[in-house]
Amino acid sequence: MKKLATWFIQNRRDFPWRHNPTPYHVWISEVMLQQTQGPRVVDFYNRWMKRLPTLKSVAEAPLEDLLKLWEGLGYYSRVRSIHHAAKDIVERFNGALPNNAADLSSIKGLGPYTVGAILAFGFHQKQPAVDANVARVLARYFALSDDISKATTLKKFRELTLSVLPDNDPHIVAEALIELGAVICKKRPECTRCPLKQDCKAFKEGLQESLPVKSLKIAYETLYRDVAVVMHDEHLLVRQGKKGIACSGLYEFPYFDGPVAGRAGDELGSLLQNELQLDANFEYCLDDEKQSFTKYRVTLYPKFFRSQSKTAILDHVWVHKHDIGALTFSSGHKRLLDNILEES
Ligand code: SF4
Repeated sequence: MKKLATWFIQNRRDFPWRHNPTPYHVWISEVMLQQTQGPRVVDFYNRWMKRLPTLKSVAEAPLEDLLKLWEGLGYYSRVRSIHHAAKDIVERFNGALPNNAADLSSIKGLGPYTVGAILAFGFHQKQPAVDANVARVLARYFALSDDISKATTLKKFRELTLSVLPDNDPHIVAEALIELGAVICKKRPECTRCPLKQDCKAFKEGLQESLPVKSLKIAYETLYRDVAVVMHDEHLLVRQGKKGIACSGLYEFPYFDGPVAGRAGDELGSLLQNELQLDANFEYCLDDEKQSFTKYRVTLYPKFFRSQSKTAILDHVWVHKHDIGALTFSSGHKRLLDNILEES
């Protein structure tokens, strides 16, 4: 693993969360990095740290501010969880993340990976932080056919990680494993430029493409939504996602689940009339948008309407286009909004 540490020191990507990280910096960056690649997180991270430089400032900020800072990253339950956890940490641990696994694990929302990452990178302890990247590297390096979608395998891999971490500066190898999985030992590994290739069992045996074994596939659900972008003068009609659904609390344009190819403009106009008692004239189709959240893959079919009045509609609000940027939208609706504002 010495070669891996040397490779990492010479080649690590320069991310802001790697500059003198505190446990708080590690925590926020690790949550942002879940299911998102490093380069995409940089702007979100910098924006967050500028506005919320301390854990205490997170606990004191309104949730709406946190959601706005998170807008575009997706998986909004994570930011709610951060807010909740920050309050808990202020209350129980005087505003500082604790430096041991037992206390960290008692904070709701902190799973084994995040706990390991905070201890390893924030406190420089010899602790395993096993994410999908590390699991892939280890499965190949040791040529293990354990199913990485099983919790028992991840437990085994945590122990395995611990066994390969050196006593001196263990955090360097712990982070190097993650980096290697992100940039070289990817789904399609680039073994010829890998610092571990001489000792990697999968590479020696030609198994690198068939490992790791992952039996559990996520069953994605496809949805099609007809979205009505309704304008009156310079006001747009929006609503907040209902509580209990994936995008709850986030703003969106009114939409109706619909057929695979979407509805015609007149048909959508009739729905506005029947469901929202809103008279609006269909003008034109906007570009389709894709949206992903949790297990859903959504196609949005947006259409532009004009209304003659700002009819009051239950659970909906009319917002001036100059003020609408302050609201937090779900990802697909946000792109839609940006396009509309750019055009208008
Ligand atoms: S040699 Fe190939 S399979 Fe082995 S760790 Fe390196 S990139 Fe992964």
